[in-house]
Amino acid sequence: MTKRIVILGGGTGGTLTANRLHRHFRHHGSGHQPVEIIVVDQDDHHVYQPGLLFVPFGLAKHSEIVRPRHEQLHRDIEFVQELIDRVDLERDTVVLEGGREFAYDVLVIATGAILAFDETEGLTGPGWNEKVFTFYDLAGATALAAALDKFEGGKLVVNVVDMPIKCPVAPLEFCFLADWYFTERGIRDRVAITYATPLDGAFTKPVASAALASLLEEKQINLVTEFNTGAVEVNVDGLGGKLVGYDGREVPFDLAVVVPMHSGAEFVGRSKGLGDDLNFVPTNKSTLQTNAKPNVFALGDATNVPASKAGSVTHFEGEVLVENIIRFLDHKELDSTYDGHANCFIETGFGKALLIDFNYETEPLTGHFPAGVGMPLLKESRMNHLGKLMFQWVYWHALLQGRDIPGIGADMPTRGKDLPTPDTSIRTTQGAPS
Ligand SMILES: Cc1cc2nc3c(=O)[nH]c(=O)nc-3n(C[C@H](O)[C@H](O)[C@H](O)COP(=O)(O)OP(=O)(O)OC[C@H]3O[C@@H](n4cnc5c(N)ncnc54)[C@H](O)[C@@H]3O)c2cc1C
Repeated sequence: MTKRIVILGGGTGGTLTANRLHRHFRHHGSGHQPVEIIVVDQDDHHVYQPGLLFVPFGLAKHSEIVRPRHEQLHRDIEFVQELIDRVDLERDTVVLEGGREFAYDVLVIATGAILAFDETEGLTGPGWNEKVFTFYDLAGATALAAALDKFEGGKLVVNVVDMPIKCPVAPLEFCFLADWYFTERGIRDRVAITYATPLDGAFTKPVASAALASLLEEKQINLVTEFNTGAVEVNVDGLGGKLVGYDGREVPFDLAVVVPMHSGAEFVGRSKGLGDDLNFVPTNKSTLQTNAKPNVFALGDATNVPASKAGSVTHFEGEVLVENIIRFLDHKELDSTYDGHANCFIETGFGKALLIDFNYETEPLTGHFPAGVGMPLLKESRMNHLGKLMFQWVYWHALLQGRDIPGIGADMPTRGKDLPTPDTSIRTTQGAPS
């Protein structure tokens, strides 16, 4: 009998998982029975989310970062465009909003994270998309581009409401690009840029946090730490407003760019036994099998694993997850080698970028990636900037298609890194920037 693998979500993780599985079964066969792969997503617009950072500054257009979802999947993979209502774990069945049901042998949860705007008082109230914006979705990034174009000076505040968020370095990159953008326009001296974060530093990992804090200082960007946003208030004259922290501190703004709280997809909350309080899916951090049931796996932003919510993490997880689905179907022991590997370019403006590479255990180190000769780590360079720009091509043509990227595997490479000697060993003490 045909084995059916249902993949919920056709974003980064769902697409690369479907294509990798398809590639495997086409080349190696399924061992015993044929395999059917179905991907479910609510819409047919695949957004290259790292590109959202560039939209507000006029450096990327809608047409460049959005492609039809179904076209990213091999034609033998069935694409179902519909909202997922819930998963019935007892019956191994997915129920769609219209009532249609899909029974599965293996389920993959790849439904990412959603922006929980309503969790912050006043965020989408008066002034929303006029004085208060987000660049974390396409509509917001597009509206912000028009507002930045008109901005002639004043206080620009970039705020992260709470962790975890997708791509924890993106708000910092936004600050660095804003510094570049206003310099190019010749009005940098008229703009005060502030970064308000709930963290106790610029970032969670100590060495990277120190490097990023000194970059903020160099670029005269104010850093406000341990700021937990309780409310966003826009003045009655509509000219500006303030962020109000739970501790009573206030950060005034003329223009605010806010990264809202994140949570897992709503259907997770409606699926008994699947999610946690925030609708993320409790998942084994090494095998990517969920705690819910042995035939349910998860990857990407949807999980609760203590890794960054990043496309690179999703990609590296995908390699182990696909291997484990194959092993599960073959009744073999699971591979437990996913090490939390994350790799992020950090755009710093003026044609430069930093690169960080780390995992659950080892924080970002200096050196080179992926080996002794390669891109410099934790150091601004033009090569890293070109790497970031080139990544979009790699995303559409290799990563989503489920192809291996030569020289870059799921495990964090140690070659090329300035590894600490045992007595100065640097280990992550504050957890991942999840
Ligand atoms: C501004 C920004 C910049 C970023 N920059 C980087 C970067 O430089 N590097 C990096 O590695 N990562 C970056 N990321 C993060 C990266 O894009 C995500 O981590 C990655 O896309 C996660 O993949 P995913 O498959 O888990 O989720 P997604 O790609 O978000 O896919 C989830 C899918 O599930 C679907 N879905 C959800 N609920 C339902 C439902 N009920 N019914 C049907 N379908 C549903 C959604 O429509 C969506 O298509 C950035 C993100 C943002 C927002």
